[in-house]
Amino acid sequence: MSIAPFLIAYLVFLGLGLGSFINLAADRLPRGESIISPRSHCRACGRELNTIDLLPVLGYLLRGGRCASCRVAIGASSPIVEAVAGAFMLVPILWFGVWPGAAAGIGLIAGWGLVVTGLAARRCARSERAG
Ligand SMILES: [Zn+2]
Repeated sequence: MSIAPFLIAYLVFLGLGLGSFINLAADRLPRGESIISPRSHCRACGRELNTIDLLPVLGYLLRGGRCASCRVAIGASSPIVEAVAGAFMLVPILWFGVWPGAAAGIGLIAGWGLVVTGLAARRCARSERAG
């Protein structure tokens, strides 16, 4: 089974990508914005994010946690959300094998997405009341 490491890497990357999508949803849904358009951009300066910015976890590390043009801090929660989503894919795969693990991983990541989006919605509601 020499194909397994590549398959696992691919599935974990898929998990990280889903984590990225969770960040996007948690950022936009509580504000009532579309998760499809516009393209991801910096909230401070409006610069559209490119491939490097959008790399899960790695993009954050490469940019030192800041926007490449205006240097505004991105916030540590986004790489953490992505890393957790990646781990939710990897751990069940190592535990149960590739396909049952991947199925369990998708379920865990979906739950994680609900938790993160729910917390973001509550934080958003709280800051609206305060402001
Ligand atoms: Zn910026």
